[in-house]
Amino acid sequence: MILDFQPGNTPVVATKPPVGTVTDMAADTHCPYCALQCAMTLRASGDGGVTVGGRDFPTNRGGLCQKGWTSAALLDHPDRLTTPLVRDGGGLRPATWDEALDRVAAGIAGVQERYGRDAMAVFGGGGLTNEKAYALGRFARVALRTRSIDYNGRFCMSSAAAAGNRAFGIDRGLPFPVSDIAGAGAVLLVGANPAETMPPFVRHLAGDRLIVVDPRRSATARLAALHLQPTPGTDLALANGLLHIAIMEGYVDAAYVAARTTGFDAVRATVAQWWPARVERLTGVPAADLHEAVRRLATAERAVVLTARGAEQHAKGTDTVTAFVNLALALGLPGRPGSGYGCLTGQGNGQGGREHGQKADQLPGYRRLDDPAARAHVAAVWGVDPADLPGPGPSAYELLSSLGTAGGARGLLVFGSNPVVSAPRAAHVERRLRDLDLLVVADFVRSETAALADVVLPTAQWAEEDGTMTNLEGRVIRRRRLAAPPPGVRTDLEVIAELSGRLGRPVSADPRAVFDELRRASAGGAADYAGITYERIDAEGGVFWPCPDEAHPGTPRMFLDRFATPDGRARFVAVDHRPAAEEPCASYPLYLTTGRVLTQYQSGAQTRRIAALPGEPYVELHPDLAARLGVTDGAPLTVTTRRGAATAPARLSDAIRPDTVFMPFHYAGGARANSLTNPALDPVSRMPEFKVCAARVSAA
Ligand code: SF4
Repeated sequence: MILDFQPGNTPVVATKPPVGTVTDMAADTHCPYCALQCAMTLRASGDGGVTVGGRDFPTNRGGLCQKGWTSAALLDHPDRLTTPLVRDGGGLRPATWDEALDRVAAGIAGVQERYGRDAMAVFGGGGLTNEKAYALGRFARVALRTRSIDYNGRFCMSSAAAAGNRAFGIDRGLPFPVSDIAGAGAVLLVGANPAETMPPFVRHLAGDRLIVVDPRRSATARLAALHLQPTPGTDLALANGLLHIAIMEGYVDAAYVAARTTGFDAVRATVAQWWPARVERLTGVPAADLHEAVRRLATAERAVVLTARGAEQHAKGTDTVTAFVNLALALGLPGRPGSGYGCLTGQGNGQGGREHGQKADQLPGYRRLDDPAARAHVAAVWGVDPADLPGPGPSAYELLSSLGTAGGARGLLVFGSNPVVSAPRAAHVERRLRDLDLLVVADFVRSETAALADVVLPTAQWAEEDGTMTNLEGRVIRRRRLAAPPPGVRTDLEVIAELSGRLGRPVSADPRAVFDELRRASAGGAADYAGITYERIDAEGGVFWPCPDEAHPGTPRMFLDRFATPDGRARFVAVDHRPAAEEPCASYPLYLTTGRVLTQYQSGAQTRRIAALPGEPYVELHPDLAARLGVTDGAPLTVTTRRGAATAPARLSDAIRPDTVFMPFHYAGGARANSLTNPALDPVSRMPEFKVCAARVSAA
């Protein structure tokens, strides 16, 4: 039985207009929030309002979650910014666009004159359209000529991306359509809670075939046939233990391993030391459950292994994902129709946002910035000398944590991100932002980061702009404009073009023109969009990359014949467990883990403003721990780590381990979970360790 579980969802179903149309009354588009990018139809109602209806699409099958169907509430929200703001003395005051943009251009010139080109930094977001992500990377490299650019996707999917690249030679979150998952006889879901984060996705899961790995008995875990509840920070050992069992019980697909992979012997030697009793001792997961999980995965005709932030947001996140990829490879899953390994991407354009050049080390088409051939190709598209393109810069946390210091950037432009809430060790990052010579934030509300800015530029929302997004399957889809933005508001592309022009590098602000340039820049790269056009997306309901020319059908399923490595084989990589960067001790005796809730999205700058999306910060803890501490449900509780403290009401639940507390990360101020989190970085992906650190709790 396929689940149809949408907690709190009240789908709004609209009459379906012709596919791919925008009229003065309706637009077929996709949700502004998460990577499932549910299809929706927006309709302008007679009274000036906008209604949202779910639209049938392979990913959401007509469903929307609460976040999607309330998304139009921000379009005319009283908090909406409709004029630029500039800081004079202590406060922000309204300004004209010319004054604001001139001030930004003069500020950039001043910073770069005083401190050098790299002192001007750019911070982007995984929710930006492909066109914006591309334009922002080009702006940094060509107009600013700075190496200092990265984005908040570094905090989201970077470990899975790094693991995918090293195993398969390419990073596409799901190398197969979401609809394949419904046909799998077993699904192993590691560190994901889609019943809250993307409820319509649950329609592709069958509870009796679902195995969930999560330290909490989450809404998704409650749907599963088998729930493995490991100690935070031990997923890698768990994965090695599962592979150990698969080998010992003869489940390895030897023919597949021989024909399609390399490196298995080293992995077999590593996992030999992870026998079930040892894994049980370390992870707390009963050996019988480990055996049962392997049996279910290995005996299903088709099986899928999926990871998400719970496995990935660790200082060993890349290796943890690699361990689950090793398991999938040993069972012969990747590249077999209906089976495989995939990552559940989080942010709306988490996939496309990491392909087109806003990453510190990357050029469009998922090209490497340090590859001479890639530099030559992209420089030719941009009409510049390859030698003028800067080299790779610092990763997101390294960039943010050095702002305003000797050697760090002194000016920052922020698009589509709210690092005051979303960065690890957030109080430190907030202090660094306050020390900047120039902070410019483009946003449509006064986010916590915008509130610190010297210049705030009011930008358009999703229903007011055209562009493309790439959903969690690698399917490129259209975002279509329903109406023009309010007077006084400009699109991000217009802002980038205005600034570029003021810096002597005029560019187009037209989304279609930017996309056509992106296609040329990506041609021949790993993420090749050359054959994708707006017309094809409209006609075909989206196009999967890679798609190298307009006659190419796109690539819904990758790896069917070969992997994207030089020899065409997937690479096993031996990885071993190591403790979290910070383990509990006498002073901080508990684990803290963080995550999402149904009604909120990312830093909450948008969803916290929507009255129909209730929610408040809380600290979830087990009743046994609460009894030891003398804490009652609802009482204010302070969580303290080596980074700081945060306070929120206690929420007692036996769904969490007694040695662990949980906080949602969507909230600001005194309840900001990221005041607590550990910025220890993964050595490969530079992902911070959001998901585990040592903490103590006390009654506030
Ligand atoms: Fe769909 Fe995600 Fe939007 Fe919810 S937030 S409607 S799951 S795209």
